[in-house]
Amino acid sequence: MTGYSDLSADKKRKFEEAIFDYPTLIEQAQNHLEFFIGFNKDHYRGENESIKLTWYEYNGLYAEAVALNLPGKHHEVRISYGTLMELSCDAHALTRFSAGIRSGELADLYKQFGKTPNLNCHGILPEGLEPAKCQQRLYFHALEWIFHHEAAHLLQNHALYRLDGNGHTQSSLSVAEFGSEEANSISGYASEISHVTELAADYEAIYRLLISIAISKRLAAKDGLVPDQNMNETDIWLILGSMASVFLLFYRCNPSPFNGKALGKHPHPAIRFQFAMRAMARQIMSPAFKNEFGIDLDEQRIGWLAHQVFITCGSNFIQRYERDPNEAVEFGNLILLDDSIEKAEYYHCIKSHWERLRREIKTHYPDQDFFLMEFDEGITKRATAYAESKK
Ligand SMILES: [Zn+2]
Repeated sequence: MTGYSDLSADKKRKFEEAIFDYPTLIEQAQNHLEFFIGFNKDHYRGENESIKLTWYEYNGLYAEAVALNLPGKHHEVRISYGTLMELSCDAHALTRFSAGIRSGELADLYKQFGKTPNLNCHGILPEGLEPAKCQQRLYFHALEWIFHHEAAHLLQNHALYRLDGNGHTQSSLSVAEFGSEEANSISGYASEISHVTELAADYEAIYRLLISIAISKRLAAKDGLVPDQNMNETDIWLILGSMASVFLLFYRCNPSPFNGKALGKHPHPAIRFQFAMRAMARQIMSPAFKNEFGIDLDEQRIGWLAHQVFITCGSNFIQRYERDPNEAVEFGNLILLDDSIEKAEYYHCIKSHWERLRREIKTHYPDQDFFLMEFDEGITKRATAYAESKK
């Protein structure tokens, strides 16, 4: 008898699509995200200002931040039905793959990276994490991060800085996140500014996701639904797993190479994952976050978790989507190896543009410094060394 793991990628997808239905997905997503729309409304209290979330009746992938070209400030986050389905199927596939590892299937791959997988009754899932809960959380974390990313484009008003293909400032902004046809739509300065604002939106989104998970855990503990109110390694594993899934999804939509230069509207997904992981590590290791949310992980432990999650997600990517293993290795190397001249050039480009933009954004997004991108010591050092070498 043929089992799920023997099915082709197409058949797996058909099987998964039969598990979910659109009305339920939309209702759940609306219930989950309306709280955050309400929260963001604090920034739209002026006359003629509004923010809303709409669902796009389209079965393909689409997520968009829209700043409408009207008098006043009218912002909208649009997410397609197909995005909900894709994220649900991805969460299902990653959970099923991770929980199904019973023997040494991954051991060889792990050994290549000098790691030993921790197997338990649910495969590679963190101890105590039930598969159904894992799937649910991977899905909602990914969905919430995409929402926060779009909202961040709007809250930081990136429309003021991004240029269209003809080099003009846009009076209205429409950033579509999945379009492969847009890969080479802009280049040079316009592309560099677009990449910086994408990374800035990623940064705000990961920070907002972290805080939202920490607070919802605290509320759940108060209601007796979870035994411990503090964030732990399982929470970090789930954030990393959802982020790896989202960035591998972006890569599936647009598998362009990285050569140190900004091209098109979005940075390479592996570079985005690397920046997001570093931003997350920076935040959870900060004394303020540790004190407030009771998590105590050092950089080495976070790095180990990220490594383990990426090997798992990369292996699932190869099997589930029938991809060339070299793609996962190259993607992984782009995240993990930090010694290339191309990366130093890219860091320098991003950092120099962001220093100016950050100052400007602060003037119309006051008292939100913690949501505005900061670079860790590693990126700062590499960018500075690159600038010195060019003098
Ligand atoms: Zn974006």
